Amino acid sequence: MSDLSDKPCIICVAITGSLPTKENNPAVPITVAEQIESTHEAFEAGATIAHCHVRDDEGKPTSDPERFARLKEGLEQHCPGMIVQLSTGGRSGAGTTRGGMLPLAPDMASLSVGSNNFPTRVYENPPDLVDWLASEMLKYGVKPEIEAFDLSHILQAAKMHKDGRIKDTPYVQFVMGVKNAMPVDREVFDYYIYTVKRLFGENTPWCAAGIGPNQIVLNDWAVSAGGHARTGLEDNVRIDRDTLAPSNAALVKRVTDLCEKYERPVASWQQARQILGLRAA
Ligand SMILES: [Zn+2]
Repeated sequence: MSDLSDKPCIICVAITGSLPTKENNPAVPITVAEQIESTHEAFEAGATIAHCHVRDDEGKPTSDPERFARLKEGLEQHCPGMIVQLSTGGRSGAGTTRGGMLPLAPDMASLSVGSNNFPTRVYENPPDLVDWLASEMLKYGVKPEIEAFDLSHILQAAKMHKDGRIKDTPYVQFVMGVKNAMPVDREVFDYYIYTVKRLFGENTPWCAAGIGPNQIVLNDWAVSAGGHARTGLEDNVRIDRDTLAPSNAALVKRVTDLCEKYERPVASWQQARQILGLRAA
């Protein structure tokens, strides 16, 4: 195994998502106040990116820019230095409403560059919408995180980078274990890493996320392979088969434990910003 002791690991916490409810796990933060508190705990535990969705008064996913603004402001106040990443994912709205929060100029936003199946529907990302979201990110200086649900999404990101639709080297997240999309497959995972290195350079940072019980599997693979890791209640509400995760912070702790196991430092927010080429907070 290569030496990981000089490779700080960035931990992203996906605090809420579009799907989990209080019935699934009472620790899922739904209101903006709950989200800020939960993120703060996760930040103290070692997370340095907060991946954020917002919910409306009924707890349903929304892309309401006003809610995103309140959340972003609260996070900047209570978690100074933490990287704020807002979701432009497709469950919270249709068409350009998905990017209505980009004028808030968060540090980062998620960007899906292609379509695929989700558990019960098509995750639709038509080319004109992808281009519009990318152009808004360019306009407001928002760094995209490319959500790779498929190998083709990595190659599409490379194409968009080459022709200027994405400014900096793409930061790709491999998402595995979404039902009806890419399963958790070690050979595909290794090929994803190989592809990122081939297209963007040997030292290009990348990250990975697994869904449900596979969250910890992808955390382990990513930490041990020199990548960065995503955790949080958006992707998984359990610590193990029988136990609900008590908090986002508890899921972050699982990743810091893995960092210890593989002798990797956990990235500080300053290191995370430097690795990702983001402005100092
Ligand atoms: Zn998300």
